[in-house]
Amino acid sequence: MRGVRKENLPEKPCAVCGRPFVWRRKWARVWDEVKYCSDRCRSRRGEAARPPAGQVPGADGGARRATRSGSSA
Ligand SMILES: [Zn+2]
Repeated sequence: MRGVRKENLPEKPCAVCGRPFVWRRKWARVWDEVKYCSDRCRSRRGEAARPPAGQVPGADGGARRATRSGSSA
């Protein structure tokens, strides 16, 4: 008897979201290289490594003082 049931398809955990995804025909050749369940997860993987945001030092633009001299006429 020969026949591959869907239940017998291999699964892998996604490297990004961790959810298992099932073998697909389009991955037949690259199944060993597939690490993400979708292109979205693959792109998310890229977002993880983003450069740190440059911190801008707080420039003191001259502290204004409101001096009120109580002058009563
Ligand atoms: Zn995923």
